Amino acid sequence: MDHKENARIFVRGIVQGVGFRPFIYNLANSLRLTGWIANTSKGVVMEIEGGGESINKFLRELRENHPPLAAIEGLDVSPGQIKGYEEFSIRGSLLEEEKLALISPDVATCDLCFADFTDPSNRRYNYPFTNCTNCGPRYTIIEEIPYDRERTTMRHFEMCPQCAEEYRSPTNRRFHAEPNACPICGPKLSLLNRRGEAIGGANPLEETVRLLKEGEILAVKGLGGFHLACDASNDRSVRLLRERKKRPHKPFALMAPSPEAIEEFCELNDAEREILRSHQAPIVLLRKRTPSQISPSVAPDNRYLGVMLPYTPLHHLIFQGGFLALVMTSANLQDEPIVADNREALSKLKRLADFFLVHNREIYNRTDDSVLSVVEKKVYMIRRSRGFAPEPLNLDFDVLPTLACGAELKNTFCLAQGRYAFLGPHIGDLNNLEALRFFEETIERYKRYFSIDPQIVSYDLHPDYLSTRYARNLDGKITKIPVQHHHAHIASCLAENSIRDHAIGVAFDGVGWGGDGSIWGGEFLIANCKEFINCGHIERVPMPGGDAATRRPARMALSYLHTHFGEDRAMWKELLPSLSEGEMRVILRQIERGINSPLTSSVGRLFDTVSSLLGLVDLVTFEGQAAIALEMVADPSEDGRYEYDLYDDGKGIVVGFRPLFRGVLDDISLGVSKGRISARFHNALADVIAEVSSSLRDRYSVSLVALSGGVFQNRCLLERTLPLLRDRGFRVLIHSRVPCNDGGIALGQMVVANEVYR
Ligand code: ZN
Ligand code: ZN
Ligand code: FE
Repeated sequence: MDHKENARIFVRGIVQGVGFRPFIYNLANSLRLTGWIANTSKGVVMEIEGGGESINKFLRELRENHPPLAAIEGLDVSPGQIKGYEEFSIRGSLLEEEKLALISPDVATCDLCFADFTDPSNRRYNYPFTNCTNCGPRYTIIEEIPYDRERTTMRHFEMCPQCAEEYRSPTNRRFHAEPNACPICGPKLSLLNRRGEAIGGANPLEETVRLLKEGEILAVKGLGGFHLACDASNDRSVRLLRERKKRPHKPFALMAPSPEAIEEFCELNDAEREILRSHQAPIVLLRKRTPSQISPSVAPDNRYLGVMLPYTPLHHLIFQGGFLALVMTSANLQDEPIVADNREALSKLKRLADFFLVHNREIYNRTDDSVLSVVEKKVYMIRRSRGFAPEPLNLDFDVLPTLACGAELKNTFCLAQGRYAFLGPHIGDLNNLEALRFFEETIERYKRYFSIDPQIVSYDLHPDYLSTRYARNLDGKITKIPVQHHHAHIASCLAENSIRDHAIGVAFDGVGWGGDGSIWGGEFLIANCKEFINCGHIERVPMPGGDAATRRPARMALSYLHTHFGEDRAMWKELLPSLSEGEMRVILRQIERGINSPLTSSVGRLFDTVSSLLGLVDLVTFEGQAAIALEMVADPSEDGRYEYDLYDDGKGIVVGFRPLFRGVLDDISLGVSKGRISARFHNALADVIAEVSSSLRDRYSVSLVALSGGVFQNRCLLERTLPLLRDRGFRVLIHSRVPCNDGGIALGQMVVANEVYR
């Protein structure tokens, strides 16, 4: 007889709520191994006994063929005494003192569940809340850990005998599937009118489809909150939704039933297809095909559409109605967080939606859809939320318990300890009472979930950010460390690329508090995760009216023209027809007397200026609109560029744009197309990055470049900059899992604060 051995195995990572124990149970049985497995609050622990050969095979299978949603982060194996187990069993959870189980993000419907609810002979036929250990709600329903049904919002539903049987059977796909449910015992749909009265009789889904086809706008309760939905090929509905939402231009996200459907209106490569179909099911920004059946009002003047696939059974069932695509935009009042509660939906969304498709499974944690694009076949995160939060980023160094409060717009926070950095979900614009409440409440929940009691709090230098005020007002024994905005951007990029060395940090964004009285936004830093020096920037010009200049690009354009060409009213009138005589006078006075006109090196405002000179956008209704408009017209075949000046002001390199503006103005008067002008501008900026980086490499002997800041959401700029830098022999770091925009700031703040504290 084969010599028997015993092994005790401890697995860390995402191993709960992902079908891990049934997998182990079946694997052990197939190899005739005995022993047991149990969840602990830190992972799973098991003991196995059997032949050495079989144990090795078991370990190999465990590493290589574990369930797709499991993420093994650590595996300890140690030999033990033979206990003589007769069979393999699954034991109850072992509660331990120290909690550090990871919480699984929500998971898009799996193929097996899809097969269940589309099979007329299955008891879950057409059931919109079908799920299993491989898919379904997780983070959004978890109130406390460890993850068991009685600590989720599913605790209100008592399982019927059949569901309970599935839940108890180790070989069943629904073994310990905490949200397990069926039409008899689980959550139910209802369709309501604006008065909250149920309509649609016994079949709310059929009625929903009918209403959408008729062009109505519905609020649909999903996984992390409500969507406002309408037929994306019905231009009248899409325009009505814009009007009601008071959102004239900002693109709406779409949901389409399949990759094949998406190909009818977008280009799709293999990497994009794979990410669309991933279990995170994010919104992916895809190149539009035109013409198509999608209403042009979905994303006016944009070359991209944000599209996702159905990620809950409810979505799949709605698409059985035969839509090419639906608009599915987060349901909220301007700048407020996404609405998640039925009663809140009926009161807040009554002017936005005609009908409400709701259900009685509560959403405990709100999460917006995540948004990303695919750059060089890799994920390039724009908004990290549903499907990703609260999965931590793994650090390759230890950090103290730290809270980083993020920025003001696109706020996310970061709570970290040891080697884990937990980035919160997308909170949004903090300058809003509801959002601030959401921010504070979610921080408290994360502290509880992951048992982190921050010793350090880090925050932006900007004194008026509400995240800064929140941090400064924290009581107790906590070390407060402010971190400069652009340093945080670069540190975030370095940290996610596991880089500890110095890099040339190119931080291009809208605006950030510089700490020297000016507003930064076009900075060249030499930085690591601890410190930085600002060794170059684009020229600083007055930003007349402060934030007012962000809304009216022409104000900024006037400032640049005044800086480079002096007072020339005839020229201004011709180039900036949207500014009245009176406005010009006011702006000029602001600039000359320095009233509310801080100097800024913002690349965002530079884009606004060129956009305004080309007459693209008069009034900005969403962040980045003028810059996006400029990107969207760029002619890809143009490879010329404008000139610029480089000089040293004694403190570092300064990029001057007088020759650039001369070129733009000449091209305008020659009638050169907007597409060419825009492309020449983008090419000039890419060249600026390469040229300044080369000078800095000579001075500081650093040949690593990190690109961060919201401007690098601009694919046109990014795709022109990368080859230029690589041709010159630079190694270039870009973001992937963390946004380059202010949604990624918190990670940078967290690592800098830890390095400074040491
Ligand atoms: Zn499933
Ligand atoms: Zn049931
Ligand atoms: Fe920023």
